[in-house]
Amino acid sequence: MIKEKKILIPLVLVLLVCAAALTRLQKQEQTAGEPITETGFYLNTIITISIYDSQDTSLLKECMDICKQYEEQFSRTISSSEIARLNRGELTDAQGISHLSPDTAELIQKSLDYASLSQGAFDPSIGAVSSLWDFTADEPVLPDDEAIQQNLPLVNYENISLSGQDIIYKIPGIQLDLGAIAKGYIADRIKEYLLDQDVHSATINLGGNVLCIGCKPDGSPFRVGIQKPFSDRNTYLTIVEVEDKSVVTSGCYERYFEMDGKFYHHILNPATGYPYDNDLVSVTILSDLSVDGDGLSTSCYALGLEKGMKLIESLPDTEALFVTNDEELHYSSGFPR
Ligand code: ADP
Ligand code: MG
Repeated sequence: MIKEKKILIPLVLVLLVCAAALTRLQKQEQTAGEPITETGFYLNTIITISIYDSQDTSLLKECMDICKQYEEQFSRTISSSEIARLNRGELTDAQGISHLSPDTAELIQKSLDYASLSQGAFDPSIGAVSSLWDFTADEPVLPDDEAIQQNLPLVNYENISLSGQDIIYKIPGIQLDLGAIAKGYIADRIKEYLLDQDVHSATINLGGNVLCIGCKPDGSPFRVGIQKPFSDRNTYLTIVEVEDKSVVTSGCYERYFEMDGKFYHHILNPATGYPYDNDLVSVTILSDLSVDGDGLSTSCYALGLEKGMKLIESLPDTEALFVTNDEELHYSSGFPR
């Protein structure tokens, strides 16, 4: 007992000294303009929030909670989520009308806007087919072609009519998948929360969807790397400097597998049920709202370089960088360089 005490007391003292040194170090870092940062795993991806003009770590925790709550609302694969329940017909009344919460209705409306803007290249009713694919499995298998052909008639946004918070399907069995746009919407909600809390310098990174609030405390812009395809996360093709903007990238290298020499990635052609086969590796969108960046990055990937660039040039305050298979960079006319 006495022997244990002899060891324990010096050990506690050493730990206390270390803790004090660490706190001092952290304080020094903070005064050097370092942000407070938290990382979590939500929405099937790594989330990092950094706040530069506050030391209140409870703000970071609340941001993570916002991610978790929205994931539990919008996820197609969490069986208790509003979208999963809608997909199973559990929200539908005797008249065939499903009643949605305001946020879900708002997000579905946004997804329908991008479906019509892209003439169906982006389609939130892709769920009937996307649910047949698994791009994250350790040992991926190709979906049964018969199942794809059977489910394809369920994929058509024109069968969806949304009025306020009420949604009606023209055919039964439609399966929504909001995976192409939900992260952008959630980033916007986190930004709203942080602005409400008087935060004016922060970055919200939801698995590569980056939304910047303001600029760095010293007035310099945030620098967002555009990832080199099929390389590790810290290898960049170029760096974009932004203030108060969203930078969202959709790429075929995000989730994919190879089988029998063929490459299969997670952005699917609603006309065929198979991945889009075009010359693009990624599309990055610069916009004010992240929901628009997310909707447009997937839409433009789906449309391909020519049609996608034409769409971007027709939109105000929106710029794009398309990367083709040969690693050539194609910028829209107002992209900051
Ligand atoms: P990431 O999720 O990697 O950021 P995207 O925003 O481009 O990439 O979204 C891809 C996801 O969108 C897919 O995992 C799937 O859930 C869904 N999806 C796939 N194809 C389409 C499509 N044609 N239209 C709308 N959503 C799609
Ligand atoms: Mg997207």
